[in-house]
Amino acid sequence: MTTYTSTRGGSHGRSFEDVLLRGLAEDGGLFVPETWPAVDLQALAGLSYPETVARLLAPFTTGCFDAAELEAMARDAYAAFRHPATAPLVQLDHDEWLLELFHGPTFAFKDFAMQLLGRMFEAVLKRRGESITIVGATSGDTGAAAVRAFAGLERIRVAILFPEGRISPVQQRQMTTASAANVEIIAVQGTFDDCQNRLKDMFNDQAFRGDLKLAAVNSINWARVVAQAGYYVYSALRLGGLARPLAFAVPTGNFGDVYAGYVASRIGLPVARLIVATNTNDILARFLSSGRYARGEVAATMSPSMDIQVASNFERLLFELLDRDGAAVAQLMADFARDGALELDENRLAAARRLFAGARVDEATTAATIAEVRAATGQLVDPHTAVGIRAGRDLCPPGTPLVTLATAHPAKFPEAMTRATGEAAPLPEPLAAMLQAHERFTTLPNDLAALQAHLRAWAGPTA
Ligand SMILES: *Cc1c(COP(=O)(O)O)cnc(C)c1O
Repeated sequence: MTTYTSTRGGSHGRSFEDVLLRGLAEDGGLFVPETWPAVDLQALAGLSYPETVARLLAPFTTGCFDAAELEAMARDAYAAFRHPATAPLVQLDHDEWLLELFHGPTFAFKDFAMQLLGRMFEAVLKRRGESITIVGATSGDTGAAAVRAFAGLERIRVAILFPEGRISPVQQRQMTTASAANVEIIAVQGTFDDCQNRLKDMFNDQAFRGDLKLAAVNSINWARVVAQAGYYVYSALRLGGLARPLAFAVPTGNFGDVYAGYVASRIGLPVARLIVATNTNDILARFLSSGRYARGEVAATMSPSMDIQVASNFERLLFELLDRDGAAVAQLMADFARDGALELDENRLAAARRLFAGARVDEATTAATIAEVRAATGQLVDPHTAVGIRAGRDLCPPGTPLVTLATAHPAKFPEAMTRATGEAAPLPEPLAAMLQAHERFTTLPNDLAALQAHLRAWAGPTA
């Protein structure tokens, strides 16, 4: 049975259920499997996307979900995706593909994990006879994916804070037009950082946290990460990747998605290279070239879901690079908290570079890549995907097939697309309908007491 340990060494032998509900370990670390299970990937050839994911997850969820439960949840989670292949491949060139991950309900790849997570939470809570309140802060896609995954569920309330007037209209409406009683959307009169800080304050208020049974679904949740390994394996099987290893280019912010590629490699998928594609917020690209992981100022770009300077899931890779020495990870993370920087020696950096390569793509190059791909193939790619394509083309080893993860639908970013190509991408029907639908949200000041009073009243006396 796979059990889990904290990357900072303070917790061992934890069950999948525990890890699912807790998110972050008590010592501040992230949960990772104590050992990597081996999966017979050849046996998955020909399976549908939901079947592939269910079979991959099975060894990670022993003691919590059995094979039949996993398959039912996966089938249900991906039933509403708009493409029958769930994660279709589109060929761009002789040996180059796009893996389209934006056919879910919110038009970005976050649906892949979140749709499954909602069902896992509901199943576990039902078994335990409990209910929880998920509170999150969003600067875009995560809030929308969470709202769509959790709306209408019985044992979960979900409240999302967003900075008033600072997210795109499409992103805002994806949250505010979900008219479910268990969903509450709050426009905070402040910045995204204010939202995140008030969220932290709420989690640090033990009475409030206990009364509302607060839970988090940010991208450090292990269940989210492992669910994303599914499309690496699925696409590799379609392209003969067991015999001829692929390179994957991954538009990266919090290091969750590209780390899922690492998980796929640890359970047996041969991977030629994982290309970490960043925009000008390039902490990870700088780390991979210098060994120094140093925080910078966050700059706003046309790929906003990657505007992150501290990549939370990076700690999971650090744990492996330090030979799973939790105390050493805790020490480095303390250095980072104090100095805003940490450094690895040459041997460990070389170990990282055996699999990972990183590139920074600036704004002008991103726009030029969108135009270039459109001219050469007719394909419209969103700015996040364009960062991935550029980095992939620059860093893919010669003769290696390249798969770039297309993380969002271009219609989500009309301004950037217009700037790059002269016109916005055609709006798919569900997004067009949403732009007409009635919005429902509450505007509140950037004030902890006001937010808490509002959430207590909303959650009601049973909370
Ligand atoms: C969240 C997101 C990313 C970054 O993914 P990480 O797992 O945070 O690295 C890239 N592109 C899009 C469209 C996203 O929503």
